[in-house]
Amino acid sequence: MLEAKNLMVFYENMLALNNISIKCDKNRIIGIFGANSAGKSTLMYTLSGIMLDIQKKEKMAGGERVTITGDILLDNQNIKDVKPSLRARAGIILCPERRRLFKESSVLENLRIGGYLATKAQAKTTLDYIMNMFPALQKLRKRSGGFLSGGEQQMVAIGRALMAQPKFLLLDEPLLGLSPLMQATLIKAIKAIQLETKITIIISEQYARPVFPIVDYAYILENGAAVMEGTGGELMDNPDVKSAYFGVS
Ligand code: ATP
Repeated sequence: MLEAKNLMVFYENMLALNNISIKCDKNRIIGIFGANSAGKSTLMYTLSGIMLDIQKKEKMAGGERVTITGDILLDNQNIKDVKPSLRARAGIILCPERRRLFKESSVLENLRIGGYLATKAQAKTTLDYIMNMFPALQKLRKRSGGFLSGGEQQMVAIGRALMAQPKFLLLDEPLLGLSPLMQATLIKAIKAIQLETKITIIISEQYARPVFPIVDYAYILENGAAVMEGTGGELMDNPDVKSAYFGVS
C-alpha cells in the first residue's frame, strides 16, 4: 500500500497541501479530484519524490523555500526522504501533467527511454502490450513526439510510464485538453490496464466526470485539503459532488 499521512507542503508561506492523508491499496484505481490549484500536482510530486528535487533545486538557486512535513509510507516503510529515482525503482512511477514527451524523439524512442528500469524481456513484453492497448501507436512508431496529437501524446506518456514496470502508476491530469471522444478512449484503456496488470493507478483530474465511474475510491481536494472521500459510487451519489461535477442540483 502507498500511503500519505498528514502531508503538508508549503511554497514559502503558501500552504499547498494541508494535512492530507490518503491510502492507496494495491490493485485499485484511486481518484484525486479538485479544481485548478487545489494541490493535485503538488500531491503527485510529493508521492513520487519529485518534490524533494524541486526543494533541492530551489535551495541551490536561492529561490523559494519549499517545506514538506508528514509521512509517505510504502508497504509500511517510511519513504519520505527517499529520492525519486529510488522510489521509481520501488515501483512508484509518475506520468506527469502535460505529458512531457521528448519531442525530438520518436514514439518508439520515447517508450524505450521509459524502459530503463526494465529487463530486456520485460521491455519487449510491455512494448507489445502497449501497442495492443493503443493500436493507434502502431503506425506512429517512427513519428516524433512533437508531431503527435494530444491524445496520441498521452498514450505514449502512459506507455512510457508502463515501460518502467510500475507497481503504483501516478497519472497527473491525463485527460487535460483532450476531446470527449479521446477522453473516453483513454478512460477505457486505463480501466483495462488496471484490470489486466493489477497495477495500482492513482489518477488526478480537474474534469473528473468521466473518471468517477472507474475509480474504486477517491479523494476530493479543495485549497490543498482533502474535504471529501469515498468509493466512486458513494461520491457520485453525494449531492455536493453531483452539483459540482455532474451539473445536477
Ligand atoms: P492544476 O489543475 O492547475 O494543475 P493543481 O491542483 O495541480 O492545479 P498545484 O499545481 O499542486 O494544483 O498547485 C497548488 C497551489 O500551489 C496553487 O495555488 C499553486 O499556485 C501553488 N504552487 C504550485 N507550484 C508552486 C510553486 N513552485 N511555487 C509557488 N506556488 C506554487
